[in-house]
Amino acid sequence: MSPDTEQLIEQRVWELGFRMTPQRRLILEAIEDAGEHATFDEILARVRRREAAISQATLYRTLETFSRYRLIHGNELAGGKVYEMVAHNPHHHLMCHRCWRDQKIEEDALASFYQEMASEHGFLVLAEHIVFMGLCRECRETHGDQLGQFQSHPKFRTTALKEEQQ
Ligand SMILES: [Zn+2]
Ligand SMILES: [Zn+2]
Repeated sequence: MSPDTEQLIEQRVWELGFRMTPQRRLILEAIEDAGEHATFDEILARVRRREAAISQATLYRTLETFSRYRLIHGNELAGGKVYEMVAHNPHHHLMCHRCWRDQKIEEDALASFYQEMASEHGFLVLAEHIVFMGLCRECRETHGDQLGQFQSHPKFRTTALKEEQQ
């Protein structure tokens, strides 16, 4: 784990009274190693390389717990849910629905929207990690602004197909 992430996690664990166990630590490391936008199956495969006996239910519960303690972000993507370790620098993602290119944007990019929500609705937005789905510049230039048929993210396609065939 990077020293920055390590420090951030330690701070949140300490502040919130979270109980870190060797298994939880191992799962956190697997999420970190999986990189951005890891699916449940990807995390499970990584954890099982080091702790073969872990059940899907245990992993699922642990991911829920991590989300509650804001150690990881769970985001709905086209077709399923992906997880990402909390980052030292808060950011959001712009993800193209056609080519799946992923652009990271700074949290500041939404500052004027946040200010508007505060002044018009008195609402303080606390959003650490948002994935915006849309169309990237290249795809818009090539294909126009038509989304066309909804496609699930390539990471979820094999499972989606299996379910449809059942
Ligand atoms: Zn991210
Ligand atoms: Zn694109």
